[in-house]
Amino acid sequence: MSRELADHLRYYAELGVTGVSRDPQWSARVSDTRANARVAEAVDSPEARVSDTLDIIKTDIGPACTRCKLCTLGRKQIVFGVGHPRARLMFVGEAPGEEEDKQGEPFVGRAGQLLTKIIEAIGLTRDQVYIANLIKCRPPGNRNPEADEVAACEPFLFRQIDVIQPRVIVPLGKFAAQCLLKTTDPITRLRGRRFDYRGATLIPTFHPAYLLRNPSAKREVWEDMKQVRAILQNA
Ligand code: SF4
Repeated sequence: MSRELADHLRYYAELGVTGVSRDPQWSARVSDTRANARVAEAVDSPEARVSDTLDIIKTDIGPACTRCKLCTLGRKQIVFGVGHPRARLMFVGEAPGEEEDKQGEPFVGRAGQLLTKIIEAIGLTRDQVYIANLIKCRPPGNRNPEADEVAACEPFLFRQIDVIQPRVIVPLGKFAAQCLLKTTDPITRLRGRRFDYRGATLIPTFHPAYLLRNPSAKREVWEDMKQVRAILQNA
């Protein structure tokens, strides 16, 4: 138990979260750790396997999709998504960056490492969640995806969500949150709120890359992740 607590403290410290002793849940750390274990068990439960359906979506996209102009703008490969096919928690980013385009996996590199710590801070691992992007190909120069690109690609994300049926969806950053919710509200107005979305609860939060530039925002992300953990524990 002491090692688990030490792990949690380390994650909180790495996330820049201070003052955890003021967190009422923290004082009940023993039951808290057990609750995290229950979440992990639930995520691991061998429910009906639907990876073949995710495979079908991947096959439908194809290895050389040409449905939007990003196919001609320097993408190396399609970054489909990664994680548990029945994950109860799903993260949705904006688009692959340079490293993701190279490796074929979303959220690798420094922002990805921070996302991994955020996931671990609520007692889960990357293998137990699902991570995808709104669009599957890297926009040149990491520019924002354009409306026609989102329109061409987002149906595949919707299908992934419908197959995985997560309990909670966390859009990472302004662009993913605005596109999923079809709003122009700033992320500062969207985070801290819950939305019903395709059978899940959607909880927007800041993008890990933003946290790398603005470490003080890690506390707000931690507040969001506590909401996520509470929903998963009560489900
Ligand atoms: S972004 Fe999506 S729709 Fe556009 S080429 Fe890539 S996979 Fe196809």
